[in-house]
Amino acid sequence: MNPRVVDKPRCHCAVFGVHGHPAAAQLAYYGLLAQQHRGQEGSGIVTCEFDTQEERHRFHVHKDFGLVDDIYRDSRLLTETLRGSMAMGHNRYSTAGAANNRANVQPLTVIYKDGNLGVSHNGNLTNFRSIRKRLQDQGTIFQTTSDTEVILHLIARSREKDQIEQVRDALAQIRGAFSLVLMTDTALIAARDHSGFRPLAIGRKGDTWFVASETVAFDIIDAEYVRDVEPGEIVVFRGDGRSPTTPVSLRIDGRPADPHFCIFEYIYFSRPDSRIFGHSVDKVRRKLGKNLARSSPVTPRDPADRPIVINVPDSSNTATMGFVQQTLKDGGNVRMEIGLIRSHYIGRTFIQPNQDVRENRVKTKFNTVRGVLQDKVVVIVDDSIVRGTTSKQLVQLVRQAGPKEVHFRVTAPPIQYPCHYGMDFPTPKELIANQCGGDVQKIGQELGVESLEYLSIADLLASVPQGNGERYCTACFNGEYPIAVDDKQTKEENEA
Ligand code: SF4
Repeated sequence: MNPRVVDKPRCHCAVFGVHGHPAAAQLAYYGLLAQQHRGQEGSGIVTCEFDTQEERHRFHVHKDFGLVDDIYRDSRLLTETLRGSMAMGHNRYSTAGAANNRANVQPLTVIYKDGNLGVSHNGNLTNFRSIRKRLQDQGTIFQTTSDTEVILHLIARSREKDQIEQVRDALAQIRGAFSLVLMTDTALIAARDHSGFRPLAIGRKGDTWFVASETVAFDIIDAEYVRDVEPGEIVVFRGDGRSPTTPVSLRIDGRPADPHFCIFEYIYFSRPDSRIFGHSVDKVRRKLGKNLARSSPVTPRDPADRPIVINVPDSSNTATMGFVQQTLKDGGNVRMEIGLIRSHYIGRTFIQPNQDVRENRVKTKFNTVRGVLQDKVVVIVDDSIVRGTTSKQLVQLVRQAGPKEVHFRVTAPPIQYPCHYGMDFPTPKELIANQCGGDVQKIGQELGVESLEYLSIADLLASVPQGNGERYCTACFNGEYPIAVDDKQTKEENEA
């Protein structure tokens, strides 16, 4: 099921973990609810309880397709079924593995020789096909088509005696993007790949510890953000419930951190009220808008006109404010208006893979405020253009309101390459930037605007936090993949 109407890259998953709280499942529910934007296909919570009668640990699992609120509508699931003081959760949008395969909904769990084991994964493994083939050749039977399952098998097959060492052994073999929450009978474990493509944060409230993709998950339960899990780090939360838990930090292996944070988290994926990679998304997004205003101000044909700048709700709200602030600071004569209204009640039952229908569907999501746009020079600020279908439709909608001119500004560079690290982009040939051979003027003509400008890669990099060793992945803009991609197309193949 595809709940999206607008043409944007899809974010792939949120993870959440709770250690040391008698109502762990309820906290996980809120943590997942706050991160619903990161995945809407399915969701799951797994808890760990010590069964005093049988004197063994039990995992309780509930997962399904759909939105968090729908899946846990019967609150007894959270209060009676999902018992235990440790929990892990996941919101899914599939990157690897068929979306309609129920077995792929995470967290994935197994019982192996050392007890229960579960995993929630945000990211995409670049060598999972070769690992999967090797394991299958050795007799391993896979239950899912998800890349995440190889992690469980590698842990279960490890020759290490200690469970944490088994996890380290397994994670040292996988490549690509992984921000993980793992759960054993006695520990909650957070781990992040050496590049740290996807975010992973640690939170705390009293003696309860949390792990989440985004810090908005901590805000909703009044937990405080402590720090990020570092690239290449494993953090183990283990306690007996009688004394406070002290997290233990380990490295996956001897390889040093090699940061390549996903810059698209700042552009579009993360919520502006989150801290991502240790920094406020709101601040970065404003800076994106400011730098775009500096590099690409709008000049109306008639200097007497005062352009109005409109956001594309909700994803470009913050960047649009930055754009307007900077334009005014530079002496420009613009004002911000709410010219596009987004319906928040659009059903997620609309499944429209067909391009014609998708274009029409945009109208059900957005409408214009005619009085705001009529006879005005209008500047639309958006965060990205993918296929161009939504942008084209938005421009048509705005045109129907009778503006004098329509200009378009994008707070990201043109998207030309696929993501192999956990985001779902259309095929390269579907991307409008590729269809127009990277010619921005031609893309502008396709959209039907007086002018179109993108943020440059240099200005993008100038907008994100630097100085603490941060480095970023920009592969979807320039095709420079920071780590090898075993199984998929490379830039050269895309260009061939
Ligand atoms: S290719 Fe783009 S979306 Fe994927 S990790 Fe790199 S910056 Fe993020």
